Amino acid sequence: MEKMDCLEYRLKRSNRKSMGISIERDGAVIVKVPHQAELKDIEKFISEKKIWIYQKLAQKKALNREGPKREFVNGQGFLYLGKSYRLKFIDDALRSQKSPQAAPLRLWRGYFELAESERATARESFMSWYKKQIKKQVKVRMPRYDKRIGVTVKNIRILDLGHRWASCGRNGIINLNWRTIMAPIWVFDYILVHEMVHLIERTHSDKFWRLVARVMPDHEEHALWLNENGADLDL
Ligand SMILES: [Zn+2]
Repeated sequence: MEKMDCLEYRLKRSNRKSMGISIERDGAVIVKVPHQAELKDIEKFISEKKIWIYQKLAQKKALNREGPKREFVNGQGFLYLGKSYRLKFIDDALRSQKSPQAAPLRLWRGYFELAESERATARESFMSWYKKQIKKQVKVRMPRYDKRIGVTVKNIRILDLGHRWASCGRNGIINLNWRTIMAPIWVFDYILVHEMVHLIERTHSDKFWRLVARVMPDHEEHALWLNENGADLDL
């Protein structure tokens, strides 16, 4: 197993004339090269295909994933911006006495506090809380990038996109998966930037990656994080 920047691959030399990459069912990366190929050329080839490889690996992983099984019990950890906070159910009477204005679910002093009466609909409470946080974060994070990219985002829709993190609609609309807010903020930013650049350049062309790299030079790292940890970002 060879290794290049965190990416492991198996090298297969044969009589073929050009280099090629395939991803096996188990996620193994196979790099097929001619007998006489030199390592520096092989590495250059892999580096050019890196984004493609990560995308394929992410797709494979998403298909095989089980996802965490949340039971919504006291003490269970829930993610927000890359950190896990324990859930604590709060007696309704006590809650209304202490903080009558508080929402049924809130992140408070390092805990997710959820009203006892919401136990049966805990998942929905979390989902709507996550959606609210995305709206807040987008307002803060987007201005860091939009002028530099040269794009105007007209609307962000927060949807359940299943295994996809985001998609880019027409007319300046970006669709974000509500699960994205469980990722660390720089990964959230990467998802946002990726879709913002898609508003200018719809395909993953060289121009696309150049635009992404201009505002986010370490974007490959974030894509890798998503590839490795994305399956955990769920309820
Ligand atoms: Zn894309």
